[in-house]
Amino acid sequence: MNLAKRVKALTPSSTLAITAKANALKAEGHDVIALGAGEPDFNTPIHIIEHAEKAMREGGTKYTPAGGLLQLKNSIVRKLQQDQQLEYDPSEVIVTTGAKHALYSLFQVLLDEGDEVIVPTPYWVSYPEQVKLAGGKPVLVEGKEENGFKITPDQLEKSISENTKAMIINSPSNPTGAIYSEEELEALGKVCVEHDILIVSDEIYEKLTYFGEKHTSIAQLSEEIKKRTMIINGVSKSHSMTGWRIGYAVGDRDIIQAMTNLASHSTSNPTSIAQYGAIAAYDGPQEPLQEMKEAFEGRLNKVYDELVQIPGFKCEKPKGAFYLFPNVTEAVRLTRFESVDKWVEAILEYEKVALVPGSGFGSPDNVRLSYATSLEVLEEALDRIRSFMEKHQ
Ligand code: PLP
Repeated sequence: MNLAKRVKALTPSSTLAITAKANALKAEGHDVIALGAGEPDFNTPIHIIEHAEKAMREGGTKYTPAGGLLQLKNSIVRKLQQDQQLEYDPSEVIVTTGAKHALYSLFQVLLDEGDEVIVPTPYWVSYPEQVKLAGGKPVLVEGKEENGFKITPDQLEKSISENTKAMIINSPSNPTGAIYSEEELEALGKVCVEHDILIVSDEIYEKLTYFGEKHTSIAQLSEEIKKRTMIINGVSKSHSMTGWRIGYAVGDRDIIQAMTNLASHSTSNPTSIAQYGAIAAYDGPQEPLQEMKEAFEGRLNKVYDELVQIPGFKCEKPKGAFYLFPNVTEAVRLTRFESVDKWVEAILEYEKVALVPGSGFGSPDNVRLSYATSLEVLEEALDRIRSFMEKHQ
């Protein structure tokens, strides 16, 4: 069958691809360590599970409104008020099947053929693909390694054309863990206001900031910026609920209404049971989040210190999310591989450690390692990488 043009150009998610490869090797009986996963290794806090169970027994198993339960929208509005001092009305919120689908729907309702979206590199793998699926054109702007992988207002200004409709900002970032400061966000926000561009602020790693760093939503910085910002967030990373598939978008009421109309013809609604779980996530105790964050911070300290000792690995210490994104060009050169992709393949083949090549994030000199796995496993992975480097030099 001849497939539609728009999906022929689609690149499969490199993170899911490497996880699939690692799983296939595991199924063959190999002892594989997968550092590709983008999800916390903790189980969902028990009070959330219990609340969802109760909802199921009490009949919360039916269709909900397409844009989500009003009770959950209210919880999200309260969360934004408490955490970011941002005021929204529930009509400015849509609950979606994960943050990924919030972004997908947003680009579907926003973009016409040829509209441009500014995507800073390194980017989360799905941004450019989702923009293209909606007929748009991703315009890549390099977040330079020497600038902590962040783009500057000057770069943003220069990448704007008459077709620019939106820009994406992801802080803390997947894959780099970089966090934009208030001043940096304000400067970028100003440019977007001047050019009347929508800011898509993906805040899915909001709760995972370390060493006293604090997350700021760009929407907090002025009323003018807030008017043009669509916040994307959800419970996947914050509450260790990746499989529940609950995310949300908050912003301009007309855009939210269009996304809701689209949902009414595509998903109908996010899973009812998971929505009840998300209510408990936002309204219930937040202590488990702190515990997870402390565990991640401890691992980051340990893994970072060891990683930068490996010959050829160059890495700034990330401040958020749960990834390290070292530049490995020197490691690849030392082991005489022709590219980072080939080197990553060899590490999986010889040492059974799955890393994600940076090419999928628009940054071919780097690899992404997730430290969302136990310290014991991380130590073993580092031993294997060290051993690979020794054997191949
Ligand atoms: N945005 C970023 C930057 C992510 O890393 C991810 C997940 O990996 C998502 C969005 C999607 O999150 P969800 O699981 O809620 O769809």
